[in-house]
Amino acid sequence: MSPEEFREHGKQVVDWIADYLSTIESHPVRSQALPGEVRAALPAHPPEHGEPYRNVLDDLESLVLPGVTHWQHPSFFAYFPANATGPAILGDLLSAGLGVQGMVWATSPACTELETVVVDWLAELLGLPDGFRTDSAGGGVIQDSASSASLVAVLAALHRASSGSVGAEGIDGRYTLYVSSQTHSALEKAGRIAGIGAANVRVVDVDKATLAMDVAHLRTLVEADLAAGAVPTLVCATIGTTSTTAIDPVAEIGGLCREYGIWLHVDAAYAGVAAVCPELRWINDGVAEYADSYATNPHKWLLTNFDCTVLWMADRAPMVDALSILPEFLRNSATDSGAVIDYRDWQVPLGRRFRALKLWSVIRWYGAEGLRAHIRDGIALAAEFAALVRADPGFELREPHPFGLACFRPLWTDLDREAANAKTLALMERLNDSGSLYLSHTKVDGQVLLRMAIGGPATRRQHVIEAWEHIRAAR
Ligand SMILES: *Cc1c(COP(=O)(O)O)cnc(C)c1O
Repeated sequence: MSPEEFREHGKQVVDWIADYLSTIESHPVRSQALPGEVRAALPAHPPEHGEPYRNVLDDLESLVLPGVTHWQHPSFFAYFPANATGPAILGDLLSAGLGVQGMVWATSPACTELETVVVDWLAELLGLPDGFRTDSAGGGVIQDSASSASLVAVLAALHRASSGSVGAEGIDGRYTLYVSSQTHSALEKAGRIAGIGAANVRVVDVDKATLAMDVAHLRTLVEADLAAGAVPTLVCATIGTTSTTAIDPVAEIGGLCREYGIWLHVDAAYAGVAAVCPELRWINDGVAEYADSYATNPHKWLLTNFDCTVLWMADRAPMVDALSILPEFLRNSATDSGAVIDYRDWQVPLGRRFRALKLWSVIRWYGAEGLRAHIRDGIALAAEFAALVRADPGFELREPHPFGLACFRPLWTDLDREAANAKTLALMERLNDSGSLYLSHTKVDGQVLLRMAIGGPATRRQHVIEAWEHIRAAR
């Protein structure tokens, strides 16, 4: 494709995306495709001869789109939002257009240095501690996901807990991780990948009412492990759990970690970005004093296309020591001089995309006040939805709901728990099948709850009110 052909088709693609976004409400929110339907509609064999680009767009529209769930639909309320916005899409397009592979500073200095600037900007926007800034011992780095960020934190913690011997000799001790029943499964997965083993991931109890980690139980588990000769390596505290946005007591957990020299990783994948609003900075209480690492996802609620997780370290040395490896083909004078950052040492893969461009585009387009307005809108709409649920005697609302998520359930009279759960799930399926909105669910203390996650850039009050009317009518 010549640059002139690219210009022509590129304009068609941008027009296609703009048309898609402006007519997105004409689609059912959740794809109605059956298993295998998209695959069966596509040719089983690749073309021998090249085709006009128009054919790709035609097939995208007729064959692929029916199998797409419209995450940017303003009535998408499932899981958590995965915000995509104009400036982020354009930033990603520019990254693709430059086609840079930024594995080390020398392979494209701006790829590294723009990233350093935007992660420091984001730390400032979120009011994160100065120790997370790149001009301190710490620093931030963009990862593909919070799962990768957790894995990097576990590897750095293992390195520190083993004084480097794990990287050199493999795991010989009995290293233990601590999560709660509400912690994201990414942590257990990181433990498995790192060789710690699922059997050495301890699940700490949570408070029944708040679902926050029970620090007294954490202490009991840590002390029992120490008595048995294990090496407590990392505790994960979550700010905004995936299930219900519960908040662990970070400061209290941090005090215990400090006492025993355990790494504290803070997973704020969904909710951390809410700290762009000064009135929400309290969610990070304890982070400045105690967190060894902290991750949040601009790719959920901060208007930035997937993938964009930012991981910060209070001290980057254990991470770099754990992950640095310098084969001959990567040797260069800039790396040797020690004057530059090579982000390949801050992540699992070697290669890396120029992701900083989209975060940079987003922060510049919206400015701090635009980012705050988006978070405040989501929280206000969730509060309004919650008030409607609370006022209806046919439903029960779960409190509190500090962010954009409201969890609730219909009350079914004269049904035992299993029957009530089945009816709640059937209600959700009916609503999702209708195509007019998309909800997901969770289970708390054996009870199925519906999750209404608000925070899409196109979601307005009217979509939330309509969703509530659909839910009430379907009950
Ligand atoms: C969404 C989420 C994750 C996983 O995020 P990915 O970026 O998809 O890996 C981890 N932790 C929490 C608390 C989350 O909400």
